[in-house]
Amino acid sequence: MNDAFDAYQLPEEHQELRAAVRALAEKEIAPHAAEVDEESRFPTEALKALTAAGFHAVFLPEKYGGDGADAIAGCIVIEEVARVCGSSSLIPGVNKLGSMPVLLSGSDELCQQVMPSIARGEAMISYALSERESGSDAVAMKTKARLDGDHWVLNGGKAWITNAGISKWYTVFAVTDPDKGANGVSAFVVHADDPGFEVGNKERKLGIKGSPTCEIYFTDCTVPADRIIGEPGTGFKTAMRTFDHTRPTIGAQAVGLAQGALDASVAYVKERKQFGKAIGEFQGVQFMLADMAMKVEAARQMTYVAAAKVERGEPDMTFFASAAKCYASDVAMEVTVDAVQLFGGAGYTRDFPVERMMRDAKITQIYEGTNQIQRMVMARALLRR
Ligand SMILES: Cc1cc2nc3c(=O)[nH]c(=O)nc-3n(C[C@H](O)[C@H](O)[C@H](O)COP(=O)(O)OP(=O)(O)OC[C@H]3O[C@@H](n4cnc5c(N)ncnc54)[C@H](O)[C@@H]3O)c2cc1C
Repeated sequence: MNDAFDAYQLPEEHQELRAAVRALAEKEIAPHAAEVDEESRFPTEALKALTAAGFHAVFLPEKYGGDGADAIAGCIVIEEVARVCGSSSLIPGVNKLGSMPVLLSGSDELCQQVMPSIARGEAMISYALSERESGSDAVAMKTKARLDGDHWVLNGGKAWITNAGISKWYTVFAVTDPDKGANGVSAFVVHADDPGFEVGNKERKLGIKGSPTCEIYFTDCTVPADRIIGEPGTGFKTAMRTFDHTRPTIGAQAVGLAQGALDASVAYVKERKQFGKAIGEFQGVQFMLADMAMKVEAARQMTYVAAAKVERGEPDMTFFASAAKCYASDVAMEVTVDAVQLFGGAGYTRDFPVERMMRDAKITQIYEGTNQIQRMVMARALLRR
């Protein structure tokens, strides 16, 4: 035995981070999770608590006022928040999704314009790629941007934008050269106060009800010329590179939701009695719990490996980012459905959190590319070898 052997375990600082986020999530976020879901309202308590503790955007580089936390640390924050409230986990999650295009491809001046307000917790940022008619086929987007003197003029609309209406900043992808397909897409940072920008009504959703999802519209929306992210025509590449960094965070969200459902299930089967004993004493129940825990742990490990590969910029990071998102979200769906089963009739009611976790888990199989699209990405990577 060698207790100094440190491969395949998280460094102490990550374990300490987990303990700190868990304590905060249980005290400040969990008590409001059911109400946030029931009332489909934004989790303001979570935003306040995460911002006060500096957990709302840990990934931001120190030079922009952030903590410069690594990708695994970012996953741990999202995982621990999702363990108690899926909606609230979209605060750190979408801040990362909206910021990454700017951090990856934007000029230092643009980062200086946008990032410090996010680091200070004064603004959040959303990511606007999808449109009503172009979801999986994102290149088919219709939103357009043209340069007019010293500003860009955007026209069109985006759909399904997480935290729209709450965010002040929006990373928006638009066609600048219609003849060039993916190479004719550019990325911009739009501010909620830019003239010609509007937010539509909230979608009525199955889950993550505390996180508003809306359309956003651009009607001759004028944006200063320096708010383009990188060079014209590089937007689609930036959008895809962003997913390498953020798909592991969806994996983390899925792991957190699944862990929350598993923890609730373990507690319930020890208490609930049928046939004169706790249902946890039945082998049929024990086997379900064992399978759930095994899958959650496998998903967690794959998520952290993907995050580490992305942090190091390894050549197979795109495969791993997709694999982690896809596997962990499929696990989250299976585990939360099994949790509802273990609660019996009680699991089907809003008196217990597992039905909310099951509804929240479903989105992890859909956004940032459906799991069919993830399988396409993985297969492409395999066939390129
Ligand atoms: C709650 C929520 C939040 C979201 N947040 C954001 C956000 O913040 N920003 C943003 O830009 N977008 C966001 N989205 C959009 C999301 O990324 C898209 O919904 C998703 O990419 C799927 O696109 P679609 O809905 O148009 O489905 P479609 O592309 O129409 O897909 C329908 C079905 O067809 C399948 N399919 C499509 N093409 C193929 C293929 N080639 N092979 C096999 N199967 C295929 C899909 O897997 C799916 O099962 C969000 C969506 C939701 C519901």
